[in-house]
This record gives sequence, structure tokens and C-alpha cells, in this order.
Amino acid sequence: MATQLYINGEWVDAKSGETFPTFAPSTGEQIDDVAKAGREDAQAAIQAARTAFDEGPWPRMSGKERAEKLRAVAEIINSRSAEISEIEARDSGGTIRKAMFADVPGAVGTFNTFADCAENEPDVIDRGESPFPPAKSTVRREPFGVCSGIVPWNFPFIMASWKVGPAIAAGNCVTLKPASFTSLSAVEMVKACDEAGIPPGVVNLITGPGGSAGEELAQHPSVDKVAFTGSTEVGRRIMQLASGTVKKVTLELGGKSANIVLDDADLDLAAAGVLWGTFFHNGQVCESGTRALVSRKIYDEFVGMLVERAGKFVYGDPLDMGTDLGPLVAPSQVDTVERYVKLGLDEGAKLLCGGERPSDLPAGLDQSAFFQPTIFEADNSMKIAQEEIFGPVLCVIPFDSDDDAVKIANDSIYGLGGGVWSTNSERANAVAAGMRTGTVWINDYHMITPTQPFGGYKQSGIGRELGDYGYNEYRQIKHVWENTAGDRGGYLHFAALSGNI
Ligand code: NAP
Ligand code: MG
Repeated sequence: MATQLYINGEWVDAKSGETFPTFAPSTGEQIDDVAKAGREDAQAAIQAARTAFDEGPWPRMSGKERAEKLRAVAEIINSRSAEISEIEARDSGGTIRKAMFADVPGAVGTFNTFADCAENEPDVIDRGESPFPPAKSTVRREPFGVCSGIVPWNFPFIMASWKVGPAIAAGNCVTLKPASFTSLSAVEMVKACDEAGIPPGVVNLITGPGGSAGEELAQHPSVDKVAFTGSTEVGRRIMQLASGTVKKVTLELGGKSANIVLDDADLDLAAAGVLWGTFFHNGQVCESGTRALVSRKIYDEFVGMLVERAGKFVYGDPLDMGTDLGPLVAPSQVDTVERYVKLGLDEGAKLLCGGERPSDLPAGLDQSAFFQPTIFEADNSMKIAQEEIFGPVLCVIPFDSDDDAVKIANDSIYGLGGGVWSTNSERANAVAAGMRTGTVWINDYHMITPTQPFGGYKQSGIGRELGDYGYNEYRQIKHVWENTAGDRGGYLHFAALSGNI
């Protein structure tokens, strides 16, 4: 049975009755059919959100009441952790370990964190007397209204929680659109919202193509805010579509993050960290450290360690707990990676390991969706070092000094993540301070928590997600000026008027 759309608290088929298949990339087998929403369905979802916001209880409830509902969503998701993890791993090709240890607990933590924000972040701030006493100023934080959340296929479940959680915690109503490759876990999230008793219209789900249903979510005049995670190219398109009615836009886009290994790094730790920073989820992570900048003083030894250890990853069935690397999201993504490998060779980069689809996969797996961990020695000006590949490809680049490393790291249109490996905290923090990027990990990588801000510098995005920073991206600011004297008070008649009115 095909999955359905969720509009105004009802599970419905697409108006056209159309569906599209979703596949398990590990085997190429079809898992399910998914309702294929068109523009009309997106319009119905937006209308439901509009009505729920303008007339429904949700934005009028207290933050504490909303927090209780968000915590209930978190609890339902947590109670189905095993089931949802399996759906996520099967549909996306990400490993079951990733789903169980990152995706599902990450989404639970996200709903709980935004519940805390709804309960504890002040809605009204007394700003005291204005410079024109006895006037008094108050600042109110209020929801935008109707939000659209459009998410990619690499972390489908957790990205959906990053859009739905803060939007509804702040009192907005939202329509979620997952990527077409990975719709199934979003259905599970919306089921949890339904069961938790979130009122009709507050959360809506549209599955279907970005080019039609997605465009409607980004441009419809009744939408107040669009939150998008995906490629920089589509992010630019979202800004254009949203500009017609000057919607608020937050974007989380691509990256080409630098992982800097200083000469005083613990090389054993750094080698493991650089491999983890790049090859986790086959490099299909927006903040992957896909450029390893390595001090020339330790370069040969360190690169030797990387290449030797890259051969130790275990490929296989993503549902097997022993698997490090599953398939990429689809064979088409492997085609993209292959094109970049060829381009790298044409550009003169030196292939140190990998570069092909593996030939030694366990039986029953679809070889066309897998790719070997690949390491190039490259120059930062090459396309493989400048463009986001979104696959298991690492560029290793030598540097001569800390300043040189920062310069190379910043020579990118992106600025999303980054790492520094050093045994000297002061030195590592100085390098981190020089990097023009939204997150830097020192002697670690990929650690994102629901309570701390995440987002991009430069063409990696606009705005921040998570924590109080992310929460406040879903609230606009109203200044209320109150003349507390109850009479003209001397300033109602601004000096520019004659005083006759
Ligand atoms: P994508 O092609 O940009 O798609 C992202 C989402 O946008 C999908 O739901 C897609 O729907 C939809 N979409 C596509 N065209 C659209 C349009 N014209 N109007 C409205 N929506 C549209 O990205 P992807 O290939 O799924 O994901 C990979 C990219 O996401 C990478 O570049 C990666 O760096 C980035 N990413 C960034 C972050 C971050 O936090 N910064 C996190 C994860 C991923 P369809 O699937 O139906 O096309
Ligand atoms: Mg799939």
C-alpha cells in the first residue's frame, strides 16, 4: 500500500492519484510506493497551515502547553526507535548504526530541545524606559505564521526534525517536504505528531517532486517563511521563489570543509578523525571534512596512515551492525562521484587509493550503488577540491604554516564545517578563529548537538539551526511602545508638528 500525504490532520492520496516508487539502494529493490504530490496538494497543505495559524489553537497555546506536545512526539519516536531506524537505513542506504546512534536519538533530542525553548525562552522582554520617559518599551517574539520545510536525502529523519521541531515549538504551522529518494521516515515522524495530538493543520506532509510541489512551498503567497536544506544551487532558486512576497528564508547548503592537521597533532587520533570526518555516511554529509590540509612536516607519515586505514572500512548491507559503509543514496549519486574521480585524474590530482566501485561486495548487494573510499593528493585550486562531490572522496593538500593552512581553508565559496587537530589548545583555537566557517571541531568531527547553533558562512547558507539561535529563526520581533503617562506627555506632539491637533 502506498504512503499518503498528511493535510489538515487527514491522511490522503495525492489529488492526481499518482504515486512514485522508493528503493533500497543496497539491493535496488523497491520498498514502497509514495504519494506523488503536485502543486494542488501543496496548496491544500499551505491553506491548512494558514487556517490553523490564523484561527486554530496552536499559536494561542502557552509555550509550556506546546512543549508538552513536543515531548510527547519525542517519546513516541523514541519508543519506535528500532522500527524507524530500520526504515531510515533501508530507504536511504545509511547504516543502521548511523540511524540508531545518530538519526533517531538526534531527532528525539531535537524535539526535546525545542520543547525546552518553547517553555523557557522568553516571549516578552521588558526593555525598560525609553529615552522619552514615561514611555516604556517591550519586545515581543512572535511566530512568523506559515512555514515550509524542505529537506534533503542524506539525513532525512533528523533534517525533518530540524524543520518541524523549532517551527511548531515557536507556534508556527508547517508543511514538510522530504527528498524524493527518502520519503518514508518523514511519514513516521508525522505519524508521531498525529498521535501526540498536535492539532490539524499544524504539521502537514507533502511527498513529491521538488520541481513542482517544492516550488509551490517556496513561492506561495500564504507562506511566511521557508527553511531549506539541500544543495547551494537549489538554495539560490528557493531565494528567488521566496523573493516574490519577501518571505523569510533560512538556508543550510553545501560545503567543502577543511580538516587541518597541525604538525603537533596526535597523529593516531588525527588519522582516525580525518577518515571519520570524510567517510562517515560515504561523505554524504554537508559538513564533511573533504579537504584534509596536512602540515608538510608530518605529511608523508600522516598520508601513509590515512591510506593504510582507508583500506580497513567494512562495506556491506546497511542493516548489518558490522557495516561501516553502505551504499550511496542511489546509483546516480555514484555516477556523479565517478565523474569527479575522472575529473580529478584529468586535472592532474594523484590518486592514492580507491577510485572505483568495489568488486568484493557480499552477494545480493547492488554493486552500482557502492563506491570505495577514495583519497587524492590535490591542489586546492582543482575542481575536486573546490566543488562539493557529496561522496567518499577526500582531497589531501599539504601546507607550510598555520597561516598558510587558514588561507587554504578559506579559499572556498563554502564555509560550513571544519576541523583542527593539535595537542596545543591555544594554537588550535587561534587556527579555528581564522577559519571563515560556521562550525569548527578541535580534535573531533561531526559533533552536532541540538542545543548548539549550526549553519553556514558564505555560500553555505543563511541563518542558524538548533538551540536558542535556531529557535529564534522561527520568531519575529515586535517592538511595543507604550506611553504610560496616559496623556500627551510632552512627546506625542513631536517637535516637527505645530501642536494644533
Ligand atoms: P537538493 O537537490 O538541493 O534537494 C533538496 C530538497 O529540495 C529535496 O527535497 C528536493 O526535492 C527539493 N527541491 C529540489 N528542487 C527544488 C525546487 N526547484 N524547489 C523546491 N524544492 C526543490 O539536494 P539533495 O541532492 O537532496 O541533497 C544534497 C545536498 O544537500 C548537498 O549539496 C548537501 O551539501 C546539502 N546538504 C546540506 C545540509 C546542511 O545542513 N547545510 C545538510 C544536508 C545536505 P526532490 O528530492 O524531489 O528533488
Ligand atoms: Mg530510497
